[in-house]
This record gives sequence, C-alpha cells and structure tokens, in this order.
Amino acid sequence: MTDVEAALAQIGAAGLLRELRTIEQTAGGRVLLDGRDALLLCSNDYLGLAQHPAVRAAAAAAAEQWGAGAGASRLVSGTLAQHAQLERELAAFKGSEACLLFGSGFLANTGVVAALAGRGGVVLSDALNHASIVDGCRLAAAETVVYAHADLDALAAALARAGDRPATIVTDAIFSMDGDRAPLEGIVALARRHGARVIVDEAHGTGVVGPGGRGLVAELGLTGEVDVVVGTLSKALGSYGAFVCCDARTHAFLVNRARTLIYSTAPPPPSIGAAREALRIVREQPALVERLRSNARALRAELGRQGFAVEPGEMPIVPLVVGDPRAAMELCERALDAGVFAQAIRPPTVPDGTSRLRLVARADHDEADLVAAARTLARLR
Ligand code: PMP
Repeated sequence: MTDVEAALAQIGAAGLLRELRTIEQTAGGRVLLDGRDALLLCSNDYLGLAQHPAVRAAAAAAAEQWGAGAGASRLVSGTLAQHAQLERELAAFKGSEACLLFGSGFLANTGVVAALAGRGGVVLSDALNHASIVDGCRLAAAETVVYAHADLDALAAALARAGDRPATIVTDAIFSMDGDRAPLEGIVALARRHGARVIVDEAHGTGVVGPGGRGLVAELGLTGEVDVVVGTLSKALGSYGAFVCCDARTHAFLVNRARTLIYSTAPPPPSIGAAREALRIVREQPALVERLRSNARALRAELGRQGFAVEPGEMPIVPLVVGDPRAAMELCERALDAGVFAQAIRPPTVPDGTSRLRLVARADHDEADLVAAARTLARLR
C-alpha cells in the first residue's frame, strides 16, 4: 500500500472520506443534485446575489471591458481601475482608511496573519478559527498560542504570558461552523490594555450582521478599534475574492509583505465587476439583509419548535449537531431524498464527536420552504 492509499483507507475506516458532489442546476436557493430537486440549505450565498440578474450582467460587462483574467499580480500589471474602485467602495462601506483586495478569503487570511505576526512576536488565535487563519499562524514567524474558544480569561492569561513581545490577536467575527459571535468588545478592551493588534475575519459577518450588513465590528461600534478587518467577496457578495480593511500604513506594509498578494494573480475582472454590483445592491436595498434575517428567525424558530437545541435569533448559520460522522452522512442523504440539501460537516472541519448538518438560511428562500425543511429534518432525525 502506498502512503496515499494508506491514508485513504484510514480516512474511510473512520467514516470521514470526503467526496466532491456535482450540482446539476442551481437557482433561487434550490439545487438539482443526483437528479433530486432540493432546497439548498448549505450555501454561503446568503443574499442570493450570485444568481442576481444585475450581478450576472455586471460580471459579463466586466469581462467585456477588462477580459476574463487580470493577467498579472497586483504589483505587476494586475491592478485594474475596477480593483481600485472596489477598494474605495469597500473602504467607504466598512468605514476604513484603506482597503486591499486579495484573490480569496483563504489567501487574505494566510497572507495577512503571516505578514503581521512577525519574528519575536506572539499570535493569539481562537481555537475555532477558520483553517485559513490556522494556516496563517503556521506560516507566521511569531509564536502561536491557541486560546479556548471565545474565552476572554484564557486570552487575558495568554496576553500576560506574551509579556513585552508584540502581540496579534486574530479571530473570526462569526464562527463559520457554529454561527456564534466572537466577544469582540472584550477582545478589543484586552488588546488596548496590552497594546496588542486585532485582526477580525468578517467572512460571515459582511452582508449578514450589523447595520445594513456592515458586519459585527460595525454593529458593536468598534470600527476604528479593530486594526484589520478581513472580508470575503465569496459569501454574501455572491462573487469570489476577498478584501482587507485597515489604515494606510498597514495597507502599505501588506503591499510589501503579504506574500499571497504579491505572488498571486489579481482577482479576475468578472468577479470584481460582480462584487461591485452586489455591494451596490446591499447598500441600496437593506431590505434584502432584513429578509435574510427574517428567514433565519423563521428557520430557527421552527427548528426550536421541533425540539432541536437551536436558540432563537437572526444568525443564518444553524448547526444541527448529530455527533457520529456516519450518522450525519446518513441524515444528509435521507434529507436529500426528502428534498432538503444540507451537506454533512465532519472532522477535521469540526471537533471530534460534533459531526453535523450545518444549515444556512438565505434571503431568497421562501419562509414556508424553510419551515417545511425544519419539519422534514425533525421527522428524519
Ligand atoms: N474565513 C472564514 C471564516 C470562512 O468561513 C472562509 C470560507 N469558508 C474563509 C475565510 C475563506 O474565504 P474564501 O472562501 O473566500 O477563500
């Protein structure tokens, strides 16, 4: 057996083998998958903007004007006028001095954390941070300290141990697999006391939480208190690519030091055109964000009525923890047969023993469909 075969056998024996599934059609928050029509309950296209006619038209227009690809990295000849325009628009939306586009959220997190957490420093990372932050910490020259999830006492103790070394705290704003919020006010207060830098990943906050979808940092009145806000164009903005909001000095530093910016091709023009239109829609139609919230409330309320341990609220990410990975896969398949698609999420994406269906409500779902899906899941559980 080769090492690859042995690894695959081990993954399979644990019930953790992952396979790609191909969506045959998708529109309006539904999919066709293996010939089965189902409500799509596991996409991050929170506002349904990936399919919005104006967003698709903007992608096509950007392809016509600028071409299919940017042709080079940002620092060579890949920074096109529309990249600069989107950066200005995102900086205005988020209330930051500067903004810098990256190829993806994964590239932004790895590049930013690795660049800012330099030799001789300490980077303090929440235990449930996204894999891209984990990898950024691995690439950073700073020592990494992982603190218990959302635990301010653990963070304070880690900061005390960091002593005089430059410290960088990094956290998801909304945790991707549980939909819970980081205690950002407490984190910022601790950072201020210790002179630490704070990086917040608003991948699941942008377009979802806060005033007009401006994110958790804005909701808590912490704009300007958080040093670096990362966001992605790939979730509520329905496109692909990512951005980093920060001050002008940090922007200049990242342009010089973030390797994933310097050595990777600039995001493609159609993606940037689409994201600009999506951002315009979010700014001009706050009712869309409200629709997402009311759908999330409806889904959560019905799951609660059906006896699931789900809190009421407006966060569209709703984990239904099953525990065993095989049981989660089986529930996923039976739900798909019954017209509900929610992919099972298993370790190592989530901790051992917490395999789950991660449900995600969208603005373009019908409330009645969400209620019916919750009842279907209750019947199949
Ligand atoms: N951060 C978080 C919290 C995420 O959930 C994700 C996407 N799964 C990313 C970053 C990566 O973003 P992208 O998909 O744009 O690479």
